Amino acid sequence: MKRLWVIISLFLLSGCKFDSPEERERPLIVVTTSILQDGVSHLVGDLADVVALMPSGVDPHLYKASVRDLDLLQNANLVIYHGLYLEGKMTEIFEKLSVQKDLINASEGIDPDALIKSGTEAHAVDPHIWFDVELWAKAMNHVSLELSEWQPAWNNELNSNNEAYQEELKELDGEIAVKVKELRQSNQALITAHDAFAYFGKAYGLDVKGLQGLSTLSEPGLRDLTGLVNFIVQNDIKAVFAEQTISPKAIEAVVAGCANQNHVISLSGPLFTDSLDAPGTSAGTYTGMVKTNMEIIYNSLLP
Ligand SMILES: [Zn+2]
Repeated sequence: MKRLWVIISLFLLSGCKFDSPEERERPLIVVTTSILQDGVSHLVGDLADVVALMPSGVDPHLYKASVRDLDLLQNANLVIYHGLYLEGKMTEIFEKLSVQKDLINASEGIDPDALIKSGTEAHAVDPHIWFDVELWAKAMNHVSLELSEWQPAWNNELNSNNEAYQEELKELDGEIAVKVKELRQSNQALITAHDAFAYFGKAYGLDVKGLQGLSTLSEPGLRDLTGLVNFIVQNDIKAVFAEQTISPKAIEAVVAGCANQNHVISLSGPLFTDSLDAPGTSAGTYTGMVKTNMEIIYNSLLP
């Protein structure tokens, strides 16, 4: 019985925290992805509660808001989303919310010239900007400025948190550049299940190929598969990579295709692409995710 009461009171407590804006101790900031949650938490520290709609391991391209999500969004004091159609199935929700609520579009802080285009349609832009650490730092800087405008009283704390975070990201950017340079010198390429690493390739100078289009909505065709297998065999690529949010079926077919041409290749990973790993694990933060990916890539391509 005692245990039941504990459970009930815990439930009531968590209900209070998120459901009644008037009684809230701190503002509730609702973000979409786990990557954003980590960044925004670095910026606001203890000033607000930061809750993510998508748990770790979830694919944002396919994510549909649940009834609980809509409730959270309605109740939030502020909503922060990634933008660039990463949350492809939530666009309409953001449009409707923007009429009555404060919203921050994190990727608005990026110079349009720095974005990688991906076709002729207006919204055909690669959303995976967090794989270029410098670009992600700019997005976080933009979020920090917008937060300051939203809560001017937070200005000093936001500035000092942002400064510390920018320093951490700058150091990370340097570490990645050094590792990738070695891979480039041994003529390796990064081949993954979907096209998430174009910004990584552009920023650090590595040849990058994905089997699936930018969004996981599209299925890879047989022609893509054959082309990729030929590329791997011709360039003596050592490994291909599975991704945490995507079924490994298609990338397994690449490994099988290489075996048919007597080229043995390892299937490494999974890499963390569109979501962090569970909190408390090595890839449970943004910097941890980038470092973990780099380690997996480096150790698989330079055996
Ligand atoms: Zn993606």
